[in-house]
Amino acid sequence: MWIKTHSVQEVFDKAEELLDKEVTLSGWVYHKREHGNLIFIDLRDGTGVIQISIHKDKVDDKVFEKTEEVTRESSIIVKGIVKRDPRAPGGYEISLKDLEIVGLAEEWPIPLNASTSLLFDMRHLHLRSERQRAILLVRESVFEAAQEYFKKNGWVEVHPPIFITAACEGGATLFEVKYFDRKAYLTQSSQLYLEALIYVLEKVYCIAPSFRAEKSRTRRHLTEFWHIEAEAAWMELEEIMKVEEELVSYICQKVAKERSKELEFLGRDPKDIKKVKPPFERISYDEAIERLQKKGLDIKWGEDFGAVEERKLAEDFDKPFFIYKYPKEVKAFYHMPDPERPEVVLCNDMIAPEGYGEIIGGGQRIHDKELLLKRIVEDGYDPKDYGWYIDLRRYGTVPHSGFGLGADRVVSWICKLSHIREAVPFPRTYSRLYP
Ligand code: ATP
Ligand code: MG
Repeated sequence: MWIKTHSVQEVFDKAEELLDKEVTLSGWVYHKREHGNLIFIDLRDGTGVIQISIHKDKVDDKVFEKTEEVTRESSIIVKGIVKRDPRAPGGYEISLKDLEIVGLAEEWPIPLNASTSLLFDMRHLHLRSERQRAILLVRESVFEAAQEYFKKNGWVEVHPPIFITAACEGGATLFEVKYFDRKAYLTQSSQLYLEALIYVLEKVYCIAPSFRAEKSRTRRHLTEFWHIEAEAAWMELEEIMKVEEELVSYICQKVAKERSKELEFLGRDPKDIKKVKPPFERISYDEAIERLQKKGLDIKWGEDFGAVEERKLAEDFDKPFFIYKYPKEVKAFYHMPDPERPEVVLCNDMIAPEGYGEIIGGGQRIHDKELLLKRIVEDGYDPKDYGWYIDLRRYGTVPHSGFGLGADRVVSWICKLSHIREAVPFPRTYSRLYP
């Protein structure tokens, strides 16, 4: 087997230097177009796509026959000469001299007019499309940016467990698993464990999957999603909101800069993302209710917001915004009640623009032991199940706050996707567990 000398990207980067020189590339046949004595192959590798032209009169008959035989998505190695060609995508092409077929592909099973359900049944193959590649690259940058933001600002990465024994976000969406002769659950959020770790490292974060048995079929719920969570000692609501807006802005700036080509390909103007800079506007839950009532929605104080309400509110903003201080009844037990108004809690949701909905849930946690016990019982849980978590309030408790960002929702918004399932390589939803 021939050894490649360059990647597609390297050929484009050094094209002028490589002009009229021979290169060896390896990859897959993305498209093939035949015009009698002239064949074009778009060769795809991990870095991009380049046009290969095959002229019958410039190659051996055997080589031409091989290019005739080659099928879509076959793996091949090509030797050829780098040429300038303004008609070729990227302005350069490879004029073929020789070709080796490594894996001749069977007939491609995804027709042009494939249904969404077929595309997702064939996800293992469909991922090879340019659109999916662009999404994966943006996704990579989102994760890299988050890491970078935390590192630059003194946060320490930690690794909480996936198997857990008690709910964090309500029993209804817990996935139960058999754990030898006991029952365990898959984690819904790493928050409670991060709270233990702030007593060691003060500012911690983790990037890990969370699992929720979401039965509702929406465009923004997965059953397994990637959660970027952070928790810090000595921080109150206002301070954690600042961290949240800085993080989201940092992600947007990096992606707009480094992935503008991919964003444009996906139909997202990088300017939409570049303008996401702090401060984000903040409205209280009370004000949100007023706005919704003015917009004609039949909603009363005390009710939670879903996709409809979040989309309505987002009409007034062109970048993410915060809703803070929700009624205690619609939030989990660990949220700190407002000392001045105990019917609301010191929490915040960050809502993405354009109807993408909530991308962050965060807030200040209860650090008083008695108050925490009261809230656990009020919410119908057994304090026995939260023994270690309550302990944290016994030994040097401090005010603290944190948040969880849904990475897949952020990717979905930044890439302007119509459904979150496209934001992950292998989505898991109520109806999908394969491939
Ligand atoms: P929602 O009300 O939209 O279901 P939530 O309030 O249950 O979200 P949190 O518990 O606050 O969500 O989780 C923190 C973040 O994790 C959310 O802001 C969201 O971005 C993301 N998230 C939550 N559930 C899911 C899910 N099922 N699929 C993808 N992302 C999710
Ligand atoms: Mg939430």
